[in-house]
Amino acid sequence: MHMQILGTGAAEAWPALFCNCSTCRRARAAGGKDLRSRSSLQINETFKIDLPPDTYHHMATHALDLSRLSHLFITHSHMDHFDLATIEMMASPFAHNLANAPINILGSSAVVDKINAEYQGNRFPIKTTVIKPFAPVFAGELTFTPVLAAHMPDEECLNYVISSGDSTVLYASDTGVYPDITIDYLCGLKFNLLIIECTSGTLDIPPIGHMNFESVLNFVGRLRSAGAVTSGTRVVITHFSHNIGMLHAELEALANPHGIEVAYDGMVLDV
Ligand SMILES: [Zn+2]
Ligand SMILES: [Zn+2]
Ligand SMILES: [Zn+2]
Repeated sequence: MHMQILGTGAAEAWPALFCNCSTCRRARAAGGKDLRSRSSLQINETFKIDLPPDTYHHMATHALDLSRLSHLFITHSHMDHFDLATIEMMASPFAHNLANAPINILGSSAVVDKINAEYQGNRFPIKTTVIKPFAPVFAGELTFTPVLAAHMPDEECLNYVISSGDSTVLYASDTGVYPDITIDYLCGLKFNLLIIECTSGTLDIPPIGHMNFESVLNFVGRLRSAGAVTSGTRVVITHFSHNIGMLHAELEALANPHGIEVAYDGMVLDV
């Protein structure tokens, strides 16, 4: 699988849109890996997870050909992962000659209901599908299995296990500490790569909603005890809030000694 992490910031991006905190001032001055847009993951040519408000920037910066998109998986309805208005740009007169239309957009019933309420009729080259946790979706050369996240109390939030047959990847954004049903499922797999949100860095966090570095270590440790993570498994953290106060190099100094890599916008991962 060829993967590219398109965005690595939390909802406010990095530096945050309207923020004048010291971290955002340092990030503006540093540029490069300290510029973090809203989160999305491109997989091979035709698969993508989430549709953030920075999708145009991702397409232009990384020379993506989104006219080839066949499957778009949505994690949840927060605006940094799901910009409903952008779906309009898939339709004529804004887009022509889509290679794999209709584009399959898959997510929870909360997400699909929002799409269907806004985009009715056959002008839109999309097909929506409600998916359920732990029910695999066979999509071309890949299998996407949604797993239940712990992020919003009033919406079923999904993360994804992506498998090519040769390799298996977890994309865990957004989530808090997983429920046991998810941990038990993941413990039965063997991962080549984990991409895990670490929104809260070294800050304390509430038990539901997001991960901090300590909860990432605990999670990876549980998977390692079960044999789902081995010495060959890459672990990458992403989806950072500016409130953690740490620039990319400072995050690397924290994470790298634990064998954990820090994502940056445009990071390519071949697994
Ligand atoms: Zn988010
Ligand atoms: Zn800030
Ligand atoms: Zn969220």
